[in-house]
Amino acid sequence: MDADKVVLVTGGGRGIGAATARRAAADGWRVAVNYSANMHAADEVVNGIRAAGGTALAVQADVADEAQVLRMFERIDGELGRLTGLVNNAGVVAPGAPLAAHDVARWRRLFDINVIGTLLCAREAVRRMSTARGGAGGGIVNVSSGAARLGAPGEYVDYAASKGAVDAFTIGLAKEVAAEGIRVNAVRPGLIDTEIHASGGRPGRVAQLAHQIPMGRGGAAGEVAEAIVWLLSEQASYTTMSLLDITGAR
Ligand code: NAP
Repeated sequence: MDADKVVLVTGGGRGIGAATARRAAADGWRVAVNYSANMHAADEVVNGIRAAGGTALAVQADVADEAQVLRMFERIDGELGRLTGLVNNAGVVAPGAPLAAHDVARWRRLFDINVIGTLLCAREAVRRMSTARGGAGGGIVNVSSGAARLGAPGEYVDYAASKGAVDAFTIGLAKEVAAEGIRVNAVRPGLIDTEIHASGGRPGRVAQLAHQIPMGRGGAAGEVAEAIVWLLSEQASYTTMSLLDITGAR
């Protein structure tokens, strides 16, 4: 276990976040596993990490709620130590529908969680990591989406737009904090087999769309986690401002 490897994975109880939390722990990171509603899933990830000899902590917070995010970071400061890694993974989709059928409440939820949540957690991480503020530097990985590039027409152009904002933010923040010891990158997964598709009303979406993917299959959460943990690691020491597609060539 490395004393200066403390990472927060938002939405770390399920899907890509859970795979990332486990993979980071295997790489020696002490892991804060954030969840919003599903405490049981987060506890399961934490217990698995501890059983394997790692250190992990489940922390509840809605990433779109500033007060909850501030409390979460203070708890991590106290229980795990100063943060050197952040994976902004928490994200949601909405039921597939063309723009003409959307309402504003749907857009606000998507942007609050996918964009404001990402900005809020990044801000708190920068305050702790920046060498200009007495920190030891660190790495931030934002989980964007291939949708930012493809646009998701007819399904969720609003979700795609929120991930486009995450990409622009990744580029800007990477430049802003490059001289403060912080690297900022994004991964853009394609169709990955998790529960997010059921939450958007299409549990069979990955199998249904697999024929559109040049590699002929959807991806696994663990395949995204590998890239995220590499981007956090010292092995990626000169990699910043990159938007890494993990899409099976879609
Ligand atoms: P998932 O299986 O549905 O898991 C979503 C996670 O986000 C859950 O752990 C959930 O916490 C958490 N979350 C949701 N709202 C939250 C909030 N307000 N505050 C804190 N946590 C919150 O999704 P996934 O497929 O792993 O997706 C993870 C990320 O990858 C998302 O940003 C998604 O947009 C992106 N992505 C996924 C795919 C894909 O095909 N799966 C493709 C491209 C991009 P609870 O467990 O507490 O509900």
